[in-house]
Amino acid sequence: MKKGILLILTGASSVGKGDIRDLLMADQELHLFYSISMTTRPQRENEVDGKDYYFVDYEAFAQAVKNKELLEFAEFDGYYYGTPRKQIDFLLNSGKNVLIEVEAQGVGQIKLKHPEAVSVFVMPESIEELEKQIRKRYNDEASAMRRISKASVEMELAPLFVHQVKNTDPMQAKEQIKAFVTEAMEKE
Ligand code: 5GP
Repeated sequence: MKKGILLILTGASSVGKGDIRDLLMADQELHLFYSISMTTRPQRENEVDGKDYYFVDYEAFAQAVKNKELLEFAEFDGYYYGTPRKQIDFLLNSGKNVLIEVEAQGVGQIKLKHPEAVSVFVMPESIEELEKQIRKRYNDEASAMRRISKASVEMELAPLFVHQVKNTDPMQAKEQIKAFVTEAMEKE
C-alpha cells in the first residue's frame, strides 16, 4: 500500500499556525489526520483532552520518553511537548496523510526518521506584526518578552526550510501548503 504524506507545520510562536492548521484539516481533498501531541502544559478552558492534546503529568511524560514512545519532544516555556510515534506510524502505513504541528526545535528529530516529510515554516507578515500578535496573546510583559525573544531565535531557523509560507492571509497560506502536499502525493 502507498504510504501517506507526513506534513510538518512549524514557525515562530504566535505566527498563526493554529488557524492554518484548522483550514488544512477542514480541506476534504487533503484527507489529513491530526497527530495529537502529549504535553505537561495545563489544559486550557476551551481544550479537550484527547482531541487538542493528551494532557499528562511530568512523570507520565518522562515514562513515555524512557519507553521511546515519542517521535520527538521539546521543552517550550517550561512545559514539555512530544509527538507520539505509534499513531503516526499506523496512519502513514495505512496510507493516510498526517499533519503534525510542532515548534521548530522538534522538526529535525522528525526529519531524521521521516526524511520524505513535507515541512513548512510559517513566516509572519513582518516582525512588528508578530510582536503585536504576541502582545495580544500574552498580557503580562515577562511572558510576552520571553515569547518575542524565542520567536526571533525561531525565525533564524526559517532558511533551513525549503517551503516557507508568509501568513498574510491564512486561506492563501493554506492553499500554498496544499500545493506542496499535492505535489508530494503526485510524486509518490
Ligand atoms: P501551545 O502551548 O500554545 O499549545 O503550544 C506551544 C508550542 O508548542 C507551539 O509552538 C506548538 O506548535 C508546539 N507544540 C505542540 N505540540 C508539540 C509537539 O508535539 N512537539 C513539539 N516539539 N512542539 C509542539
